[in-house]
Amino acid sequence: MTDSVTLNVIATVDSPYKEKFAIPRQPGIVSAAQGQLRLKGSANNIELVRGLEQFSHIWLLFVFHGTQAQGWKPLVRPPRLGGNKKLGVLATRSTFRPNPIGMSVVKLDRIEHQLTAHKESQVVLHISELDLLDGTPIVDIKPYVPYADIIEDAHGGYAHQQPSNDIHIIFTDASATIIEENLTSYPTLRLLIEQVLSQDPRPAYKQQSTDDKIYGMTLHEFNIQWQFDGGDIIKVLSVEVSKG
Ligand code: SAH
Repeated sequence: MTDSVTLNVIATVDSPYKEKFAIPRQPGIVSAAQGQLRLKGSANNIELVRGLEQFSHIWLLFVFHGTQAQGWKPLVRPPRLGGNKKLGVLATRSTFRPNPIGMSVVKLDRIEHQLTAHKESQVVLHISELDLLDGTPIVDIKPYVPYADIIEDAHGGYAHQQPSNDIHIIFTDASATIIEENLTSYPTLRLLIEQVLSQDPRPAYKQQSTDDKIYGMTLHEFNIQWQFDGGDIIKVLSVEVSKG
């Protein structure tokens, strides 16, 4: 019997989400979010993923490394309840859990076996629809098995359906121009910005309200500023390549 376990990190995530703000609250919501998993250490071996390419989706088990240091609480306020009602942490998908383990189903686009300039082998899984912070440590990868994982008559309490926001996204000419200029490297940047903003990334207590604050977020290497422009329109004010 043991009260603690040690896990090895088997991969890390390259994600367009460089900070927590504006990451969707579940995977699948932002289809234009694309990232990579790089297998690590003894798990960086193409044999570990033999056959995985037959699956359209995979489960990722990961560590909430960005909030891990903040510890956990027995009661949390889920954003779905407007942030003003407390529920038991195990009744939520909060990141502040007794063990900071997250799980996400993501789309597996392809598996690539790279040989670096120094003839080192690197296994890369190209994924999309992710909801993970850049650098997230992955502790397990499993195929998504529809017959076992889809439960037709399941019901989802307070989070039964994906929240629907009827927000329209518009771009200033200047921001549209920068997006155009980066089309070769980031062909889906405009769609990514639209999808991220249409889920209203503001804190729960501000959702459904109008405010004129200018918000900033980082996607890939771009600093993006935006503002509400009336009740259901978000205007992208500027898109700049970050200097960092
Ligand atoms: N699908 C997962 C995550 C749900 S919480 C699960 O159900 O377990 C989703 C939030 O996790 C996102 O809004 C993002 O802000 C946060 N997140 C994603 N990766 C993270 C990381 N590595 N560390 C801390 N928080 C992270």
